[in-house]
Amino acid sequence: MPTSNIKTKLVRLRINVRGRVQGVGFRPTVYRYARSLGLTGSVRNDSTGVIIAVQGESGHIDEFVSRLRDCPPPQARIDELDIQPAPVTDDSAFEITASTRSGQLDAGMPPDLAVCEDCVNELFDAHDRRHNYPFLNCTTCGPRFSIIKALPYDRDKTSMAAFAMCPECQSEYDHPANRRFDAQPNACDACGPRLELLSSSDVAIAGDPIQQSAVLLEQGNTLAVKGLGGYHLACPATNDEAVAKLRKRKNRPSKALAVMFRSTAEVRKFCELSESEEAELSSPAAPIVAIKQNPRNLLSQYISPDTNDVGAFLPYTPLHHLLLAQVSPLVMTSANRRDEPLATTRGELRKILGSVADYVLDHNREIVRRCDDSVLKMNRGRRLLIRRSRGFVPNPVPLPFAGPAVLACGADMKNTFCITSGTKAYLSQHIGDLEEYSADRFYRETIADLLKLLQIDPPLVAHDMHADYQSTAYARTLHDKGKKTLAVQHHHAHIAACMLDNSHTEKVIGVALDGTGYGPDKTVWGGEFLVADLENYERLGHFKQYPMPGGESAARNPSRMALGVLAEEGITVNGTEPPPGLEPIPLEERQLLSQAVKRQVNTPLTSSAGRLFDTVAAMLGLCRQADYEGQAPMRLQAVAEANNGCGYGYDIDQNGIVSFSRTIRAVLEDIKHGVAEARIAGMFHRTVAAAVTEMCARVREQRNLNTVALSGGVFQNELLLNLLSDGLEARGFEVLQHRNVPPNDAGIALGQAGIAMKQAEDF
Ligand code: ZN
Ligand code: ZN
Ligand code: FE
Repeated sequence: MPTSNIKTKLVRLRINVRGRVQGVGFRPTVYRYARSLGLTGSVRNDSTGVIIAVQGESGHIDEFVSRLRDCPPPQARIDELDIQPAPVTDDSAFEITASTRSGQLDAGMPPDLAVCEDCVNELFDAHDRRHNYPFLNCTTCGPRFSIIKALPYDRDKTSMAAFAMCPECQSEYDHPANRRFDAQPNACDACGPRLELLSSSDVAIAGDPIQQSAVLLEQGNTLAVKGLGGYHLACPATNDEAVAKLRKRKNRPSKALAVMFRSTAEVRKFCELSESEEAELSSPAAPIVAIKQNPRNLLSQYISPDTNDVGAFLPYTPLHHLLLAQVSPLVMTSANRRDEPLATTRGELRKILGSVADYVLDHNREIVRRCDDSVLKMNRGRRLLIRRSRGFVPNPVPLPFAGPAVLACGADMKNTFCITSGTKAYLSQHIGDLEEYSADRFYRETIADLLKLLQIDPPLVAHDMHADYQSTAYARTLHDKGKKTLAVQHHHAHIAACMLDNSHTEKVIGVALDGTGYGPDKTVWGGEFLVADLENYERLGHFKQYPMPGGESAARNPSRMALGVLAEEGITVNGTEPPPGLEPIPLEERQLLSQAVKRQVNTPLTSSAGRLFDTVAAMLGLCRQADYEGQAPMRLQAVAEANNGCGYGYDIDQNGIVSFSRTIRAVLEDIKHGVAEARIAGMFHRTVAAAVTEMCARVREQRNLNTVALSGGVFQNELLLNLLSDGLEARGFEVLQHRNVPPNDAGIALGQAGIAMKQAEDF
């Protein structure tokens, strides 16, 4: 520390901070750091980020800069710190000055943030003025994306505009040193949103809404609970009868239901919680994390019948905390009818109330923007995203290059779209399956919404090659309005998404293992070996093609797919003693289908890896009729024995056709000989990993490429992902896996966008 007798020189800096620095408590933090170091100057927001002027002794100035760099507020993200010397002035204090708030999406609009620890402490503090107040928040936590109507992010442009702050809240909001300084959704019991408990016929239930809700839940009722980005349906997660009832009413026979636990301590009572899983659960994004259940835990058997995992998450609003403090754990699943978008208004909810929920725990803060919960699992300590939505959106994915603005329309399943601006790619929240009319409407509304927020009118539109996709139909409407459009092959987009997710722009060997994607040769692709960069791709090989009896509906019918595969392999499928897996199909239908395969009537060919997994799952009797996409492979993975062992035989010919004919026959033999399904399933996984590795080695020889990018929905299977990446790395490959974007079709739009940006010059 400098002593008073040393005359130290004053230094003044002007610091320009870019990144996510507004709406996250950045200025109060700067203010605190400057004050504690005795610095003078000011901090303010401007249209690009935050501008700081600091003046003081050089040592203190250095300390200030390193604190800013190393300890920004938890929700902030500094992309750029531009530091310039400035002439010393006669400032006498440090101030937060009035500022123009940013109109930019990135600086001005953070994702919704889980309620912070300080706020939770206040919530349960009987002496605090916000004791039990279900809508408290502060500068570092609370709703953001879901309440903002327009930018800049100011209270009057949010759904909090309906609530005038009381004098106490206003004074917190006005004081830079207060932790609610400039917190747009600031509220208390005297001035903010309120809870209400209603019956399915809209009659208010008397008494404390939380207490009453807890009683109703304990009795096994289904409650709709208004959250941040939409309503959930809640019921006690340990009550078989209640969970079975909810499933039946929602028409969701077996797809896993998410469970909200009171705390990580409670999660541990039911699950084997790892450190990295705990960190994800407790993060401000508060995603649903698929975690392995303890054997014989008390969760209802109907929660996730297909796997040993449970999709766990923690309370992320004060309302959740209050409710779960009374009754926990709770099933908390999206309030919608099957495949429809999540309900966000009382009107939307009313359509399903009564049929799906008995009561609604409602409130009067409007949800401006629908946003589903995010879903991920931890694989060897790294994130494997399944759905990137609440808590992550609208954070941009950084691109390794800049280019013209692009709207990428995505794919039709698990749709998200993407808008680029400079080096940033804004992937939308989860939209859903566009075949559903209401999802298509939500899609179009959300594109318009994000374009308006970003104030971008992209000249280029990228879309999938599939002519019958709704997203392609939407792109055509833009083409008619004069936009330039580019059709991108599905698996090229998958591989490009994985490259961009790793900031990789050089040519790679792309392995796309997927369910379904349109191929330019008019067959259905999905087990593809590409050599690709962001401009072009070549198909160097693929999985052997099989007929899909009855067309693409075979994707929901693993037994029927197995029939196609076995018939193609010359195995009799139309006899009175069917091969394993075909028993559910009546003899007459088997005869018709085998005729169809023989005559190639309505039996499109597919090289899909997903369908191959479907086939083996069906043969093992694990899944004959899929209730949702990916169910059969999920069950196959769940039973597969993971430990080391050998695989089955396979063949690769000079044309790069990777054939699992021998595998299928060997599986058939093993089933006949009563080999355990765990062993067969494990061997099958290892066979696929070995064949893909071998094929990559051949491509490496031909093309002298050593980097492999792995993408496609099949890579949600972490057993296969790990076997394959280990196999590739053991043979010296550099392996690119997804990091911030899902490997499934929810990541497609990113790849489409990158490809369109790179090809823009050719337009
Ligand atoms: Zn807080
Ligand atoms: Zn108030
Ligand atoms: Fe795909």
